[in-house]
Amino acid sequence: MTDSRKVGVLGGGQLGRMLIEAANRLNIQVNVLDAAASPAKQISAHDDHIEGSFKDAAAVKKLAQNCDVVTVEIEHVDTHMLEEVSGEVHVEPSWKTLRTIKDKFAQKEYLKEHGVDVAESVDLEGKGAEGLREVGNTFGYPFMLKSKTEAYDGRGNFVVKDEGDADAAMKALGNRPLYAERWADFRMELAVMVVKTKDGVLTFPTVETIHEDSICKLTYAPPRNVSKETAGRARELAKKAIGAFEGKGVFGVEMFLLKDDTLLVNEIAPRPHNSGHYTIEACPLSQYDAHLRAILDLPIPEAGLRLREPAIMLNILGGQKTDSHVQVANKALESPNASIHLYGKGDARPGRKMGHITVTAPTLGEAEREIQPLIDFVDDLKG
Ligand code: ATP
Ligand code: MG
Ligand code: MG
Repeated sequence: MTDSRKVGVLGGGQLGRMLIEAANRLNIQVNVLDAAASPAKQISAHDDHIEGSFKDAAAVKKLAQNCDVVTVEIEHVDTHMLEEVSGEVHVEPSWKTLRTIKDKFAQKEYLKEHGVDVAESVDLEGKGAEGLREVGNTFGYPFMLKSKTEAYDGRGNFVVKDEGDADAAMKALGNRPLYAERWADFRMELAVMVVKTKDGVLTFPTVETIHEDSICKLTYAPPRNVSKETAGRARELAKKAIGAFEGKGVFGVEMFLLKDDTLLVNEIAPRPHNSGHYTIEACPLSQYDAHLRAILDLPIPEAGLRLREPAIMLNILGGQKTDSHVQVANKALESPNASIHLYGKGDARPGRKMGHITVTAPTLGEAEREIQPLIDFVDDLKG
């Protein structure tokens, strides 16, 4: 590989770190904009990283000046500076895409305009507790109150169970720009990683995701008790959703599979995604390989995105103790088919993503049997 192009990435968390793992194998230099010693910088020794915040315009500009392509591992970035530098450097995906997606309400309106089914939503900015009661009258209870911006791992969501919850909801989220979503009474959640290239839109297989306390806990590839037809429809819906946006790279599409088998898009991530970690071990190309290749216009053979072997991914979340993630990783060392990823985040905080484990096996049943003791261990730690 003689690619001398430099990739700049806004954000140096675990997704940036795994992107660098893929880039390192191709001798591609990745310049990271984030705090010193962030997870991504720890595994990349060169002098072109930028120390600062991906929300800071001057820092984004500085990063762009020394890169051929700028991409993101988080959507909560300064898209105005990305717009400004897009004349001089490739920004993938497009700043327009990032600006629409980083506002979850704008994202949903955009998807609706492009014929993609999403949960019905209502703007609540400036409406206060009274607005919540009005939504309750129209949507019924429960409904989901969401922050339009800066949301991740459920931090920004509040389940409004009845009229009496309005004040608690405003107390939790009242200082943020809000919207409400009709409750999706789903049978399960599915996700698809989509790859947008210069030539078209490709997909990885459909997976099942299990969330606990609004944080992704497990991913099953393939999904359990889902027909081929439904899994295929999920891929088509994900393709349609991402086809509506400008720019190249991988995108995560989270979906609800309702009890009548209808699919709704929950939300989109314009970057590698937790539900795609399994691709590192289970597919010939990982979501990180695919992202790099897509933004650099390198070949992506479609068969490289297939599931080679069933896989289950378990997130290692921070627990009550600062080293609980280390205990989980140590336990996983005993498991022959478990690939362990720790992110180098230092001390754990409850609910923080500290690492993940992927077990692959010839059948999903075997993978389930192998990972079950680890799931039990994680549940016991949580108490
Ligand atoms: P992420 O870390 O994936 O970015 P987030 O903070 O943006 O998460 P959402 O994806 O909006 O949060 O919601 C988190 C979870 O909450 C969903 O995966 C789902 O389990 C539940 N949820 C969200 N919206 C609804 C809804 N309208 N009805 C029912 N459950 C919902
Ligand atoms: Mg989100
Ligand atoms: Mg989500």
